[in-house]
Amino acid sequence: MKSIKDAPIQIGTRVFVAADLDVPIENGVIKETYRLEGLLPTTKFIVEKGGIPIFGGHMGSPHGKVDDILSTRHLKSFFDTQLGTSGYVLLENLRFDIREENNDEQYARELADKADIYVNENFSTSHRRHASIAQLPKILPAFAGFRLESEIQHLTKILDSPEKPFVVVIGGAKLESKKPTVSKFIQLADYVLIGGKIGLDWTDEIPQNLILPLDYAENQLDIGPETVRKYVDIISTAKTVLWAGPMGFYEKDKYLLGTKSIAEAITGNPNCFSLIGGGDTVAAANRVGLLEKFSFVSTGGGSMLEFLVKKTLPGIEALG
Ligand code: ADP
Ligand code: MG
Repeated sequence: MKSIKDAPIQIGTRVFVAADLDVPIENGVIKETYRLEGLLPTTKFIVEKGGIPIFGGHMGSPHGKVDDILSTRHLKSFFDTQLGTSGYVLLENLRFDIREENNDEQYARELADKADIYVNENFSTSHRRHASIAQLPKILPAFAGFRLESEIQHLTKILDSPEKPFVVVIGGAKLESKKPTVSKFIQLADYVLIGGKIGLDWTDEIPQNLILPLDYAENQLDIGPETVRKYVDIISTAKTVLWAGPMGFYEKDKYLLGTKSIAEAITGNPNCFSLIGGGDTVAAANRVGLLEKFSFVSTGGGSMLEFLVKKTLPGIEALG
């Protein structure tokens, strides 16, 4: 895998930036920009060399149908302000064309015609075998962006040499999506703390280092006070914490306490390297005002979980 820092970018070089553009928009306003901010180091590097970034990415899942709410035009003001130049191209939502998701070779060729080289700066979609992720980098000279490299580096560190004690906190609603990650970290971590709905749905055996909730709050929509106490104690001893998945139905204040307590325990531990990821986990950390306090915030959800299990992704493989 070659780094963007070694890419042959000269004045006028057109660089297709496979970009993580999938940010929430409300009434045309971007509600959360951390993914877009992740694009800036690579983008500024291209612009400083005189290259022209051609951003190609998706918003939402329009499955081949044009939907103005999901148009990338809503992102133009962000790039104009951040880059201070109009010397870039923002392609329309790639998923407005069904061939993107179908990993269509002809579509990839059409995208390739727009650029001279390719850079992957879309970690959060790199688990998908889609045309701009898995196909296009086989056609153009392909490079990893700075943010993608940083994702790989931090996640690899967590897998290979986490400082111990290493505590993994897994929550959320969909057990199937988290189960391989739980199984993996049962092997690697000192503790795997389970919260959220997946704690209720867990039916497999319970090894010694896997901790399930001891109690729940009202309607089982949050972990209870005894669980919070136990988890906070364990987290306070950790040197490394990985957190994916809220502890409860955090969207409602009434069920936010468990998630808030865990976020406070992690970010309040001064000796701890903390890594979080997942759309809802990041939103929850933001909601309690602590997102900035985590050591590393992955832009990935599903892609982060898959990378943690397989140590690679289709989009990373395609970079060679
Ligand atoms: P992420 O996006 O961070 O990967 P998930 O999508 O797996 O996280 O899970 C987040 C969702 O799980 C949220 O919508 C949250 O409300 C829900 N959730 C968590 N715990 C519970 C619970 N006990 N009951 C119902 N929903 C829950
Ligand atoms: Mg989610």
